Amino acid sequence: MQPLVYFYPEGHEAHRQAGHPERPERVEAIKAALRQAGWWEDFPKLAAAPISPEVLQTVHHPAYLSMLRQTCQRGGQIDGDTYTTPASWQIAQQSAGGAIAAALAVWRGEAQRGMALCRPPGHHAIHGQGMGFCLLNNIALAAETLIQNEAAQKLAIVDLDLHHGNGSEEIFWQRQDVFFLSVHQSPLYPFSGRLDETGGGRGEGYSANFPMPPGSGDEAYSKVMDELILPLLERYKPQMILVSYGFDTHWRDPLGSLLLSARAYGQLISRLTAWADAHAGGRISVFLEGGYDLEAAAACSQAVAAALLGRPWDDPLGPAPESEGTLWRKMVARARSLWNI
Ligand SMILES: [Zn+2]
Repeated sequence: MQPLVYFYPEGHEAHRQAGHPERPERVEAIKAALRQAGWWEDFPKLAAAPISPEVLQTVHHPAYLSMLRQTCQRGGQIDGDTYTTPASWQIAQQSAGGAIAAALAVWRGEAQRGMALCRPPGHHAIHGQGMGFCLLNNIALAAETLIQNEAAQKLAIVDLDLHHGNGSEEIFWQRQDVFFLSVHQSPLYPFSGRLDETGGGRGEGYSANFPMPPGSGDEAYSKVMDELILPLLERYKPQMILVSYGFDTHWRDPLGSLLLSARAYGQLISRLTAWADAHAGGRISVFLEGGYDLEAAAACSQAVAAALLGRPWDDPLGPAPESEGTLWRKMVARARSLWNI
């Protein structure tokens, strides 16, 4: 079995807009950093898997899909933040197909861990609309593929991006077969992900949101992982963990006000990986979302790969220059009470 497999989006450079922060250099910086660490050549690069029409139309409304395809043909905007180019329809499908491939390889036991450098990102895309730089919801399509085609019954999506993963939450809002957990800066785009958003209908109690005040950093995230996310995973017992990993939580990121270090980011992935090893047959894959500072993206990606491989790693960027706030303690206490932990 391969210790790690990657998905790299060949040709993704054709999806770009001058001056936009979601730019091809992000993925190239990550690839260069993994190569520099000696962790790129050694591991296979997966081709994008096909997306079954049933899965695609479960995750996204057919009317949105046809609107997206037409918008891409003329290179129009999906919304004020979200661009397309004539190549974007194909590149978005490739990104989602890469997410599916990274999930399948681990689910089927061909690889121990999967790392999908998805671009464009996906976690803001809801059932009926792309938004927030996202066209198709890559991680949702990966999870839905495991459920529809591989008979998976219980999956967890852990969203560590700076922003709330509103799309992934909305798509699985009323379901029990995917437990969605998100820790994100609040208030911030997309202005959802309140502590009391816990799912609806049959899905009540299967969405968990941990909104972090600006200035939260390594200690805050460590506590959220140990005192909230891991206990909730323990309670739910997923068969596999799918991680939305965005590096906009890093203290250098221009879009966020969190103070996470790359080292701490790696430790979060280490904890999830250890949990998966102990309780989910080691099944964990990570899927790229945001992160707009190239040095932070490079360092955090090395940290993530090191964590997935169980290898030592030194953080070249170090901790945040300012000390973190303490407002997050209230949120953790309220969350523990709400979730009865
Ligand atoms: Zn983000």
